Amino acid sequence: MPAVPCKTGCGKNAMLKRPKTGDALCKECFFWAFETEIHFTITKGELFKPGDSVAVAASGGKDSTVLAHVLKTLNNRYNYGLDLMLLSIDEGITGYRDDSLETVKRNRDDYEMNLKILSYKDLYGWTMDEIVAQIGRKNNCTFCGVFRRQALDRGAAMLNVKCIATGHNADDIAETVLMNVLRGDIARLKRCTAITTGSEGTIPRVKPLKYTYEKEIVMYAHYKKLVYFSTECVFAPNAYRGHARALLKDLEKIRPSCIMDIIYSGETLSVKEEVSMPTLRVCSRCKFVSSQEVCKACVLLEGLNKGLPKLGIGKSSKAKKMLEEYNAKQKAEIDKLNYEFKKNNCVSKGKICKSKCNNVSNGKNDECNDNNCKCSTELNLPVNPKINKLLEEYGLLDDNQEQSLNQDLTKNGNSGLEENTCAGACGGIDGFSIAF
Ligand code: SF4
Repeated sequence: MPAVPCKTGCGKNAMLKRPKTGDALCKECFFWAFETEIHFTITKGELFKPGDSVAVAASGGKDSTVLAHVLKTLNNRYNYGLDLMLLSIDEGITGYRDDSLETVKRNRDDYEMNLKILSYKDLYGWTMDEIVAQIGRKNNCTFCGVFRRQALDRGAAMLNVKCIATGHNADDIAETVLMNVLRGDIARLKRCTAITTGSEGTIPRVKPLKYTYEKEIVMYAHYKKLVYFSTECVFAPNAYRGHARALLKDLEKIRPSCIMDIIYSGETLSVKEEVSMPTLRVCSRCKFVSSQEVCKACVLLEGLNKGLPKLGIGKSSKAKKMLEEYNAKQKAEIDKLNYEFKKNNCVSKGKICKSKCNNVSNGKNDECNDNNCKCSTELNLPVNPKINKLLEEYGLLDDNQEQSLNQDLTKNGNSGLEENTCAGACGGIDGFSIAF
């Protein structure tokens, strides 16, 4: 077959056909085109400012490896003035994440960037292996995705960076547009093509690879001989996204520009005024951004810790109902213990005073006729160890504990929360009271 000259006219022979444009290019011109397009994406989208510190969300996979490599190249070539570092999350998936983290460590050495690794075990008290053992292979990615999102926010806050750069590529975004159309999720459809996300008070996330085709990322990594990890997660499900991906790949074969066209469609969609958009606020427990009073990570963790793993799956009204039932059950159990305890310790011996000690009567008298009844000294009753054990077990505080906790919080302000972090997603205090 006769050699095809590189389309740029550089004089070299073409080595490849660009999946995005169909151009026949030599390796060097492909590298230049690939990197320059990302540079345009960064400058046009004003993703960074000189002097910014940027955490590259690094999984060891092709996207984040290429992202770290290209950002380092462009930072040097165009003097962005960025302080780049790597941020990795260890979900605790044996046979997958433990190996891919070794690749991230190699990236750290190759690109001379600092690396911070945060684990689910340290943040939430659970590894994904343990979560899957508890919940099975369905919905595992819901837990993983929600926890990872928050873990990245936490890591970025610890590193004190200006933004997080993620490796989402054009295929990922086009898939998400398709998925949101197929699900009729208009609120997400509106947001999913944004190149920068994050509300006021949160660390923004930017997507420098937003217009970069997955196939070109693989080509770039291959020809540059970059070290990356390509094994699929052992818990990867046959999720809905997989169908959207397959559809997109089929469409790409017929018309490669469809990826850009779908992103463009998503960007230019205008959503009716009456479509309600989530209002972002701060989670009342962990203080990270949430669209609900209690964020999804805290709800999921609560479910895991209480043996109700389905708590955060599905609608929040369902979770609320489950938790109310659970709390009512626990309260009844504690009330029963209280009753038994008071009855056995009542000095009036059987003449239990309803009006004073708020205990139930013996069925004959609503009130104790004993003028010297000491049942009313409820607060002075000796501490019932069984009740305290239950309170501790269910994470319920009694009034006195809650009062002193509130005093602590008022004294320390929000900054005190991090110092007293519990092992869970709440990031706040051990043993919060349950209320949604
Ligand atoms: Fe987590 Fe699911 Fe991705 Fe595996 S496939 S890393 S479980 S989100």
